[in-house]
Amino acid sequence: MFPSEIPHRSQEPLAKHTSYRIGGPAEVFALPRTKEHLWTLGTYLQKNQTPYCILGNGSNVVAPDEGIQGVVICTKELEAFLEFLPSQKVHASASTLNSRLLNACASQGLGGIEALSGVPGNLGGAIKMNAGTAEGWIEDALLEVELVQLKGGERKVPKRELVYSYREQHYMQAGELVYAATLQLRPEEPAQIKARLAESIRKRKAAQPIELPSCGSVFRNPKGQNAWKLIADAGLRGHKVGGARFSEKHCNFIVNEGGATKSDVLALIELAKEKVKAHSGVDLHEEVIVLQAQVLR
Ligand SMILES: Cc1cc2nc3c(=O)[nH]c(=O)nc-3n(C[C@H](O)[C@H](O)[C@H](O)COP(=O)(O)OP(=O)(O)OC[C@H]3O[C@@H](n4cnc5c(N)ncnc54)[C@H](O)[C@@H]3O)c2cc1C
Repeated sequence: MFPSEIPHRSQEPLAKHTSYRIGGPAEVFALPRTKEHLWTLGTYLQKNQTPYCILGNGSNVVAPDEGIQGVVICTKELEAFLEFLPSQKVHASASTLNSRLLNACASQGLGGIEALSGVPGNLGGAIKMNAGTAEGWIEDALLEVELVQLKGGERKVPKRELVYSYREQHYMQAGELVYAATLQLRPEEPAQIKARLAESIRKRKAAQPIELPSCGSVFRNPKGQNAWKLIADAGLRGHKVGGARFSEKHCNFIVNEGGATKSDVLALIELAKEKVKAHSGVDLHEEVIVLQAQVLR
């Protein structure tokens, strides 16, 4: 029996929790609130060898049409905190939305993470994905990351051990989940930070199809090149499969125009890899993650 003290829903449609609006039902959609909930969940998962996966704000994943057999651990309702510490440090929970973090820091006159502006996830997802833009990545501001181990225990990872690369981290182990982090920001006039945030949102609105469901950029930019240009040069701008299309506005975005499935998105991904390789000789690599469950060992 699933532990009743952990808030959860049965057969919850994942399409409700992903920015793509794609995904069938999660057998169990768990919304743990505390570390104790996470440890209880871990015991349950291990004892029953039940597959699980972790979901933040669902803005960089494509979820299976058939759903997830097992437990989706969603971090949205993990206890929320956002504390301002001396020397321009901020301690925030994984569940803190990037938009909330940015606005609160700007109001306090703390800058340095504006590259997260318009990135629609929460802090846990940003830390896992090393989210950011050409202007900077979250890793630049991280001082310490607090991980909870589903098998029991927790671990604080200091800056020198926070090994990152483009959209990847290299320090978390299986069964670990980002719980909180401390960031080092820098003092700046609130008005200046807010102006930068507004400018970044303006640019996104002009360049990206943010009015339609998507996961943002589907492919990583190969060194010195833009994935959107490689896709456009391969003749795929506006190409459609089912309900999914390479956006005309920004063709590294696959948008869901209504009723798109995971298979539609994956078909476009495979097509782009094939055509770009044939046209430019470049191998594209996905930034988007296909949500899948694994067993906690
Ligand atoms: C319109 C749009 C624009 C975007 N622009 C950008 C951009 O400019 N730059 C950029 O980097 N990204 C961008 N993205 C992608 C996405 O917003 C980021 O990758 C974001 O950081 C994902 O956070 P999330 O909370 O939504 O994570 P999710 O999508 O829920 O999860 C992403 C991955 O992280 C894991 N994960 C989530 N939370 C945790 C946790 N607490 N502990 C351990 N693992 C966890 C999940 O298992 C999954 O593997 C964009 C997306 C959209 C829809």
